[in-house]
Amino acid sequence: MIIGVPKEIAPGERRVALIPDSVKQLVGLGPEVVVQAGAGSAAGFEDEAYVDAGARIVAGAAEALGADLVLKVQLPGQTADGHEVDGLAEGSCLISFLKPLDQTDVTQRLVDKGVTAFAMELMPRITRAQSMDALSSQSTISGYRAVLLAATTLPRIFPMLVTAAGTLQPARVLVVGVGVAGLQALGTAKRLGAVTYGYDTRAVVREQVESLGARFVELDLDTGDSEDAGGYAKAQTEEFYQRQRAELGKHVAAADIVITTALVPGQPAPFLIEADAIRSMRPGSVIVDLAAEKGGNCELTRADENVVDSGVTIIGHTNLPAEVPAHASQMYGKNLVTFLDHLLDEGTLTLDFTDEITAGSIVAHGGKLVNERLGGTLPQVETAPEASGDDAVDDTQGEEG
Ligand code: NAD
Repeated sequence: MIIGVPKEIAPGERRVALIPDSVKQLVGLGPEVVVQAGAGSAAGFEDEAYVDAGARIVAGAAEALGADLVLKVQLPGQTADGHEVDGLAEGSCLISFLKPLDQTDVTQRLVDKGVTAFAMELMPRITRAQSMDALSSQSTISGYRAVLLAATTLPRIFPMLVTAAGTLQPARVLVVGVGVAGLQALGTAKRLGAVTYGYDTRAVVREQVESLGARFVELDLDTGDSEDAGGYAKAQTEEFYQRQRAELGKHVAAADIVITTALVPGQPAPFLIEADAIRSMRPGSVIVDLAAEKGGNCELTRADENVVDSGVTIIGHTNLPAEVPAHASQMYGKNLVTFLDHLLDEGTLTLDFTDEITAGSIVAHGGKLVNERLGGTLPQVETAPEASGDDAVDDTQGEEG
């Protein structure tokens, strides 16, 4: 089996699917790895390091995309030479972030091409899949980076200082939505010396916020049963969100920095902070809206723009992991290698549709949409569909890794 790593083509994307260390681990599992020249250079990994790790460097994207199994960070996109999906071989396999709940056209292209495709964002949030959970690894980087971005934009410092030149009050940092990114943001802000506050609708979060030395913001709202079986937040009613915005506004006004991360799977980001609340913040204050890609948690957020309104800067960066490409790629590569270790049986991709990890993350197979969350149907195990084209994908029942 040949595994291909093309250079990412999305604007601003500096990550790479595998770093040399992950290539070394993968080669140890049996496959040959081909890496497009320069694929890792924006993340600080030069071609020679890949060669030393056991990879073969190929000049253009064609050979990497045409491999039996292709590993990417961003979903396939359009290039001057055509769409990346057109470069994939029929019957091959693609593992990548695919935004399958939002960018259904790309998923459909993969279906039409007869590719077996796995979407990393659909990895089940279960204990045995933790080391394959790329949403978590990349959110960890986003949370950290969001604080640094805010800190360098704020015209103040974070820690309290008592000096001969006077006393500086510490920055107040409020994190709204304390999942993986929010927890990392709280920890990072605390380490820089800020006074930290966290708020989430899920009740279990209070203890996690307090364990990071932050105060949990209590709102006068009945959050009731706010968490689904997967640990994600449930959507609330519009009436709830209206009350939440009104309650949250006071806490936003008192903060120097607000970091918002609130998401509900498969939905636009909940609208949590009104323009009036933002305008009541002290001039110079900063909001980093990590939900910008899904429409944002704040009324004034614009995706991939810095908006300044009444002296408050609202940062709508949609790809912060790409700003820390070495560590983000290291973590993502580790997620992929662990996932492949799970999928490969003696060097051959072997699909077990009864396995929660495979069934949860696969989106396309044998020319069909097969993910139940996307409205597809998994192949019946007893009557597994015929392998399409390339023998690299063996879809008869296999061992779980
Ligand atoms: P996410 O990105 O879906 O959402 C970010 C946060 O926003 C969540 O904490 C959510 O509760 C919060 N939120 C949603 N609506 C809100 C609102 N109206 N007001 C305030 N906050 C709101 O979440 P995530 O970071 O992906 O984490 C989701 C959950 O999955 C967490 O419980 C996390 O601990 C859990 N998790 C479990 C595993 C595992 O067991 N393998 C791995 C990763 C994450």
